[in-house]
Amino acid sequence: LSPTFQNAALRHTGRAVVYTRCEVASTALGPAVDDLRRARTAGNVTMPHKEAMFTLATHTTAAAERTRAVNTFWWDGDALVGHNTDVDGVIATVAALCSGGVHGDVVVLGAGGAAAAVLVALALSPLTRDARVVVVSRTRSRTERLVALAGGRTAAMAHMSDVPWARAGLVVNATPAGMRDSDDVPVPVESLPAHTAVFDLVYRREGTAWVRDAKARGLPAEDGLRMLVEQGAAAFACWFGEPPSRDVMWHALGVPRPDAHAPRP
Ligand code: NAP
Repeated sequence: LSPTFQNAALRHTGRAVVYTRCEVASTALGPAVDDLRRARTAGNVTMPHKEAMFTLATHTTAAAERTRAVNTFWWDGDALVGHNTDVDGVIATVAALCSGGVHGDVVVLGAGGAAAAVLVALALSPLTRDARVVVVSRTRSRTERLVALAGGRTAAMAHMSDVPWARAGLVVNATPAGMRDSDDVPVPVESLPAHTAVFDLVYRREGTAWVRDAKARGLPAEDGLRMLVEQGAAAFACWFGEPPSRDVMWHALGVPRPDAHAPRP
């Protein structure tokens, strides 16, 4: 979806610049970056290259350092600058979803690159920086690496059955569960208390089953579309020094720009 909304924003500002996709094999990232250097092409990086791009960057921003992952890059002369705007996308979504505060623990499902951006964002957001964070993931080594990166009030759990769901104020799905029709929902919403907010990083044009279930139960819930647009808007601002029109970006996606959720009592 990124080319759709980035090109709309570029056309809107009259820039003769095109955002295009390029599939790069894991073994071909170095030569691909050399080509980008020659043309001074800026851009985004997605799965599975975010961690590798961090190691290739000459300069890294604080967000990239903290996540050890790069999703946005540009050039300063020959120097490759690496940044992470997924963090901005998470902060914006949490702010919209939990405008009245987070009432309880934050439970993060998954321990990959996206979960790292979530943990850094939770530590930076005034709404969540004092909350206890629980990371649940099935691969112990990845969970431990992530918890070490996050530090502070972060606990690791191997099994969903160990999570104190009654204390959950916000649950974030940072796994790919829900991308396919055949996937189970990350956590049945019946396990969640009535005050819990639900944030699914997965996005699908028709919405995700987990978010639909949560809304049907009356819980504030969002899929990853706002995060996608916000990380893209933050990247645009890095490349061009001015923010894009978010209205134009949402219009290009054919989805009404969502409002913030009303604060809950
Ligand atoms: P990743 O690095 O591959 O990590 C995925 C994590 O999910 C790992 O901890 C993995 O555990 C776990 N996992 C995978 N399949 C699972 C399943 N069926 N059940 C439970 N856990 C599972 O991927 P990522 O880059 O973090 O991305 C994760 C998701 O976030 C993707 O769906 C991606 O599309 C989404 N995302 C959205 C945005 C946005 O803007 N909305 C931005 C970034 C990412 P193991 O290590 O045990 O395999």
